[in-house]
Amino acid sequence: MTDALLTALTALADDPARRPLLVALDFDGTLAPLQDDPSASRILPAGVEVLARLAGTPGVALALVSGRAMHDLHVLAQVPAGTFLIGSHGAERARVTTFGLDRDVVQLTDEQADRLASLGAEAARIARGRDGVWVETKPTAVVVHTRLAEASVAEPAEQEAIALGERLGSGVLHGKDVVEISVLRASKGEALTALRDELGAPVVLYAGDDVTDEHAFDALLDADLTVKVGHGTTAARYRVDDPDALVAALATLADQL
Ligand SMILES: [Mg+2]
Repeated sequence: MTDALLTALTALADDPARRPLLVALDFDGTLAPLQDDPSASRILPAGVEVLARLAGTPGVALALVSGRAMHDLHVLAQVPAGTFLIGSHGAERARVTTFGLDRDVVQLTDEQADRLASLGAEAARIARGRDGVWVETKPTAVVVHTRLAEASVAEPAEQEAIALGERLGSGVLHGKDVVEISVLRASKGEALTALRDELGAPVVLYAGDDVTDEHAFDALLDADLTVKVGHGTTAARYRVDDPDALVAALATLADQL
């Protein structure tokens, strides 16, 4: 952890006026090391522990903000009751309770539902015959995954998926080895801003590793604490090397709170 990040975390912990503090975190590549098979992704054990500590701290609200569909995120998250879950890049939202998920229902219009079906069929056509390319269907989007494909196969599949999204989608996100085509306009930034407004949180700590997290970084304010996990250009103010380093930084924050 850099001295600058440590100083910022200390200042945040020491200022009782900056409450409630919303700690919002991406999941894959941020709390859970990236895996070739997304279903094999697991939060770091030390991460489970630190999220429980943060969630149990008065004046702290915890949220996970992921591109994963809500069901998937809930199964993998291992977070305590009270945690907010934002899934599908902001299109889905729920809160974890001791009885399960209290979720806001996503309602598609007939037109959006028809487009989602068409997108699914066209995305399947793009994946057909291409080794390592597969399609995931979410409640509001289809996703073309290329993580297991050779670059010479992945590249044209991604280009075709982007073109499909420009033709039929309401939003296209091109992340690491994925192209996600949504029938709703949603972004991590909008969802995060809505949650902070509802909570009246003067400060947000947000950490993420991928291009979709840049929407969240862009939506935050100078007073917020933004952390990029890993390499690449970013609008975040601070950076850590990997999920282990992020979890260590969160543990430092929890200690000081
Ligand atoms: Mg990520």
